Formats: sequence, C-alpha cells, structure tokens
Amino acid sequence: MFNRIRKTNNEFDQGKKELAKVFFELEEFEDAPLKMALSTYESLRESTKSSEDFFYYLIEDSIFTSLYATFYEKIFQAIASHPERALDLIDSFSADVDEREQIIATQTQHHLNFVENYGMCNGCSSCEFHQDVAELISYYQRGDINFFTELFLGMQTMQFAMEYFLYDYIPSNPAYAKLCGPEYIQYWRELIYNYCKVKAREL
Ligand SMILES: [Zn+2]
Repeated sequence: MFNRIRKTNNEFDQGKKELAKVFFELEEFEDAPLKMALSTYESLRESTKSSEDFFYYLIEDSIFTSLYATFYEKIFQAIASHPERALDLIDSFSADVDEREQIIATQTQHHLNFVENYGMCNGCSSCEFHQDVAELISYYQRGDINFFTELFLGMQTMQFAMEYFLYDYIPSNPAYAKLCGPEYIQYWRELIYNYCKVKAREL
C-alpha cells in the first residue's frame, strides 16, 4: 500500500516535471508564448486611443482568454480519458474554432456587462457563470491596471502554450495524453501563471 502510494506520487511528480519542461522548451521558441503575449499587449496599447480604452480592451481580452482556457481544459480532459482518440478529438476541436469563438465572444460581452454594472444583470444567457468573474468587479472599479496586465499576460501566455501543446506536442508524441488529466493541467496553468506574474512585474 505504502509502496503503491509512493509510486503514484512519483509518477505525478514525474509528469509535472515533463510538463514544466514542455513550457520552458516553448519559451525558447522564436514565437515563445510569453513573447507573443507581450507583443499582443504592446499592439493593443498602441492601437487604443486612450488609457480608458486600453483598460477596457485589456479586461475584455482577459475574460475572453479565460473562457477560452476552460474549453482547452475540456479538450485536454477528453484526451486524457480517451487517449486512443486523441487525434480525432484534436481535429474536431480545430474544426469547431469559429463556433467556439462565437460562443466565447457572446459570453465575454455578457460578463463584461455584469462586471461594469457592479455585478448586476437583468438576465442573460450567461448568468449561470457570472460568479466566475465576480472577483473582477473590485479590480475593475478600482481601475487596477496592474492586476489586469498580469491577468492578460498570464491568460494569453497560457493560451499560446496550450495551443502548442495540443496541436504540436500531443500529435507528435501520443504519450503526452497521459499528462492531460485535470490535476496536471491545473498544475501547468499555475506554473505558467506564476511565471508570467513575475515577468509582468518587470514591465
Ligand atoms: Zn447575466
């Protein structure tokens, strides 16, 4: 029993190490996740006319990518449960991109209205999930640009990393399917977010 638990823990630790390795390997790429996130951040800043606009788009995009991450979590979970169907699952995830973005864009607008209205909503099709963004209200009302910069960079970086992992890493090495379970992905998300948090302070 004791040995079995130890083995399981070792496997989990080993898996976490592999995932960390994947992320820091990606960070060596010409199109590294954080680098792309930073360039998206810069072009957003340059293309907005006022700091109010910039703040608004920063929040909008942070909500959008946070919602997107939940879709990635679902596809990774599906791959972990059905590793033998990984490639088919990835293909259909890729084919659904327009539909998915449409859904996310609509939910983003609903959540933004909710955040802007101090957490009040007269009823929309995303009410069920408003609670997930409720913590943003106070940061929004305080105009906390540092918080949203951190959130933006963290979520963008995560999205780019997840995209690489899903479309490049898993198809070329199906053994990665075993690192797609929720406990691994949760670990990976935290690792990436904390890394970005430190980097965002250097801005
Ligand atoms: Zn609502």
